[in-house]
Amino acid sequence: MKLSRTASSRHETKRIPTRRTQPAAEDLEGRLLLYSTLAPTAWTYSDRITFSFMPDGTNIGGLSSSLFSTMNAIAPTATWQNQIEQAAALWQSYANLNLALVPDNGAPFGTPGNQQDDPRFGDIRIGAAPLGSGVLAETFLPPPTNGGTAAGDIVFNSQITFGINGGVDLETVAAHEFGHALGLGESTDPNAIMYGSYDGLKDNLSADDIAGIQSLYGAPQFDQFNSNGHHTSLFTPANITSYVDPVYGQAILKSLDITASNQSEWFTVTAPAMTTGTLTVNVQSTNLSSLAPMVTIYERTTTFTNLASISAPSQYGTTLTATVPATAGETFYIVVRAAGEYGAIGGYGLELNFGTDYQAPVSPPPTVVAQQPDQGGGPPTNALLAGPSNGLRGPTFSQHFHSRTTTPNTWNLPPDAVLARIGTYSGWADRMLAPNFTPNTPTPAFGPAPVAPGTGSDPTAPAIPIAHATPTLSGGLATPAVDRAISAWIGLGTIDLGSSNPTDTHRKTH
Ligand SMILES: [Zn+2]
Repeated sequence: MKLSRTASSRHETKRIPTRRTQPAAEDLEGRLLLYSTLAPTAWTYSDRITFSFMPDGTNIGGLSSSLFSTMNAIAPTATWQNQIEQAAALWQSYANLNLALVPDNGAPFGTPGNQQDDPRFGDIRIGAAPLGSGVLAETFLPPPTNGGTAAGDIVFNSQITFGINGGVDLETVAAHEFGHALGLGESTDPNAIMYGSYDGLKDNLSADDIAGIQSLYGAPQFDQFNSNGHHTSLFTPANITSYVDPVYGQAILKSLDITASNQSEWFTVTAPAMTTGTLTVNVQSTNLSSLAPMVTIYERTTTFTNLASISAPSQYGTTLTATVPATAGETFYIVVRAAGEYGAIGGYGLELNFGTDYQAPVSPPPTVVAQQPDQGGGPPTNALLAGPSNGLRGPTFSQHFHSRTTTPNTWNLPPDAVLARIGTYSGWADRMLAPNFTPNTPTPAFGPAPVAPGTGSDPTAPAIPIAHATPTLSGGLATPAVDRAISAWIGLGTIDLGSSNPTDTHRKTH
């Protein structure tokens, strides 16, 4: 059955107007932490992990990405992109990491290049392709499991009609996939964004999600001015006059951070002798993070006078520019805070310009990591039998983020199902969609797909015996037969390649 708009609206959940952006002081002691991590998968430089939207036509394993045409059919580009950016901001708000939106030049998915900070596109590239029945999206695991540009990439199922704040909620799915892209596995906590099955709109991380992401990256960290709680009020501003170049009248402060949703970061500066009549202040999270910033400039004589105030709620990664009159010797107060109540905190840079010369944007921190070999969990000869009858079904494939159902895990593998341990199937992730893999188009958004037995898309059909294919590695790629089988299974979206063996490593999840 196709999810209609009518059906969708029935399930729509109103957003809660106030959302916490800080981990509440919840007592984690004594409760079970149900998250899982894909450790050692994590990004080398968490201070700036980039993401990008693949332009339509980007080659994803032989298919043409259709992210824009798919999502534009449900909402204006700015709207659906904002939902995905908000999902990124969620994770950034709770851990010591920044997620920054960057352009994408449309180079083929998995093309050779930097593991992190490839100049052509984001570390986490986002596209859409037909993924078959039941799958909402799939994510390639971050490095070092995937060592090249495919690491962390997210593919939405173009056969799903996503919703904005309802239906199959785009932000909820995006947040789940970002969690994978950052190194989290599925959680068994039904309240968690990382719960393996979509069961409704979730617009904030759970305590379990927060514990999981902080186990990988740590909690948000205050910057050099705000450590120990300093410079958080107008009475204790950080004096940054010494940062101003006396000739050009410019200052650049990098690696600043709004670390708490209720935090104000106060600066004071005295205009240098060369001041030519104005002070221009840039607060930049563009290209640096998903912070939605706010800036206010005061002049202090006998009282504080508000000279300028700009706020950018829900603009995740932007630059605020304010220009106010300035004379030499005049003292200003600048306060930066989070504009929105949701997903709004994170890194930024601050620029001051008392002169008239051009000032380039704040450059990002160095985060380049060259491509590395993919890492697997073991040799391909360790392919394991797995099925309901042999006890080898593990938690890794009992949880899937594949269908809107309140009764997950209803998929039953046929008794003779065979799962290939990923092992050293190096590069298979790059061949998620083999050229001769035909997706089941059109596929209903929900419910079983009407497919012929034997294709692997029918739960009653024989499984494809990929473990019997005697995989031969050639140039790091499995044989076409294995590749096809894996692709077909991935196309199902209901089977994780894996086993109950804890040493297994999965390249891709959903
Ligand atoms: Zn998942």
